[in-house]
Amino acid sequence: SYEQILKTRRNHLTPNLLAHFKKPLVIHAGHMQWLYDHEGRRYLDMFGGIVTVSVGHCHPKVNQALSEQTAKLWHTTNIYMHPKIHEYAERLVAKFPGNLKSVCFVNSGSEANDLAMLMARLHTGNQDILSLRNCYHGMSPYTMGLTAHSTWRFPLPGVNNGLVHVMNPDPYQGIWGGSNCRDSPVQTNRDCQCAVGCQASDAYYNELEETFKYSLPRGKVAAMFAESIQGVGGTVQFPKGYLKRAAALVRANGGLFVADEVQTGFGRTGEHFWGFEGHDYLPDIVTMAKGIGNGFPLAAVVTTPEIAASLGQALHFNTYGGNPMASAVGIAVLDVIEEEQLQRNSLEVGTYFLTGLAKLQQRFEIIGDVRGKGLMIGVELVGNREKRTPLATPHVLDIWEKCKDLGVLFGRGGLHGNVLRIKPPMCITLADANFAVDVLARAITESLP
Ligand code: PMP
Repeated sequence: SYEQILKTRRNHLTPNLLAHFKKPLVIHAGHMQWLYDHEGRRYLDMFGGIVTVSVGHCHPKVNQALSEQTAKLWHTTNIYMHPKIHEYAERLVAKFPGNLKSVCFVNSGSEANDLAMLMARLHTGNQDILSLRNCYHGMSPYTMGLTAHSTWRFPLPGVNNGLVHVMNPDPYQGIWGGSNCRDSPVQTNRDCQCAVGCQASDAYYNELEETFKYSLPRGKVAAMFAESIQGVGGTVQFPKGYLKRAAALVRANGGLFVADEVQTGFGRTGEHFWGFEGHDYLPDIVTMAKGIGNGFPLAAVVTTPEIAASLGQALHFNTYGGNPMASAVGIAVLDVIEEEQLQRNSLEVGTYFLTGLAKLQQRFEIIGDVRGKGLMIGVELVGNREKRTPLATPHVLDIWEKCKDLGVLFGRGGLHGNVLRIKPPMCITLADANFAVDVLARAITESLP
């Protein structure tokens, strides 16, 4: 029974595991963009298991690839060669521009970022690594220090060794000239050229320069990490040109630039297959997870052969990375994205969704900002639109739970937990977008005093 499940969870699962909602959901089944609870109630999944179910729950083609592989071979580890990993490696690196042609498969986003940190340190011979305020890069001992989010700070010795957090430009809540766009006070125009808000102010680059000169813990930079759009941080899109200029500064100081594509990869942002392609620069290392496996534990690090060479023989090993089942799933996911044109669907439905949400923003003062690209969307809820103060948490939770009760599951994020995150399986339709917008409107209306 429902009560029994809650009791078992309380008694036997560690309490760090999140249980969303006052009345937590028990999910029994999923099909494409839909989830079904223990009573058979259907929910439109607008969060995709945290941006992970890229092509749809239990997609028949991915299911078939997996079951064919499980009948043949599960596991050998990498001490023997198996054809699937080679087939998959070729398919995956073909998706990258430039010389990003070497891949190492691992099992989670945290592992991928750990490995990227190791690669950058070995390749450059330097130790220090920069990341941006409000970022999320993982929860392994290395990456929990890299992650710079108020929800996850760990007072543990060693976690922050050689790591530096620098200010992120946030065009809506920004600190150094990042807010108050001159041209559009309620900001949705990401191509705006206004030097006040939409372009990153020089202060951000000055901070990087200062850090390289004076405040690196070990004196030399190995890498800087950045998401192409901050995901857990609440769909924060950097101003145009920021990542390109930051990457140039890091390289000029002897470091590498790492693009964390764990959330933004595999066509989610619509215009491009990788988020970094929308920022007009080429990273040295790219990490990916989540959408790559549609829910199967699979992740990867892609880099140039030169940087990969620094890893050498025997310096790094993991038992499951790129196992036959994961590789079969990875290939099937790429097939489905291509055959069903899901990147294009992300762009079309995402753009339509953003327009619908922008209309809601005109109706409700409580919606401070609507932003995103493709099917990576954020709706920032505010208590005061002019001052952009975050909406009080109980009110956010109330709206969020009402949406669930009305049949739509949104995610939540941002430094203050006041941003609704919309990152559904990329197979959703225009009708699904309409339904989600209507439900959000109803939930907000019912939550107002
Ligand atoms: N990078 C980003 C951008 C993420 O969003 C996450 C997970 N939320 C990770 C890395 C870590 O991935 P995992 O949970 O698979 O370790």
